[in-house]
Amino acid sequence: MLDENCIFCRIIKGEIPSLKVYEDDKVLAFLDISPVNKGHILVIPKNHASNYLESDDKDISACAVAVKKIGKAVVRAVEADGFNIGVNTKKAAGQIVMHTHLHIIPRFNDDGFRHWPHKQYEEGEMEKYKEKIIKEIGE
Ligand code: AMP
Ligand code: ZN
Repeated sequence: MLDENCIFCRIIKGEIPSLKVYEDDKVLAFLDISPVNKGHILVIPKNHASNYLESDDKDISACAVAVKKIGKAVVRAVEADGFNIGVNTKKAAGQIVMHTHLHIIPRFNDDGFRHWPHKQYEEGEMEKYKEKIIKEIGE
């Protein structure tokens, strides 16, 4: 359930301090120590798993519900204009802490944060991607 070498498991155990804003039987939420914007929250399942794909569906569901509740509260608390939900999954996607977590990042109309750039598909390529992905979902 917990991994003694995992920083977020150690936060769950209370061995490392955190500023908690929400807790239930499956989920813990606390302030990110290096926020994108102030009020940035991390929502984590209490069961250790190295990333989103490795977490139990029940834990993911509990996190999603908690993100909705906390996201609404954060927007009100910091008077944000919106928020991003972020889940970096694996190193290539920028994941640094290998315990599943969802970022709630409050956003402001004038915060200057730029979204990632966009690419373009070649003719007919988009349909091929659609088919490849549907095949994998099919199991
Ligand atoms: P990620 O890149 O998705 O793995 O993000 C990990 C996040 O954890 C970063 O935004 C860090 O600022 C945050 N973080 C790391 N250690 C702590 C800590 N002890 N308390 C709060 N946030 C932390
Ligand atoms: Zn962990």
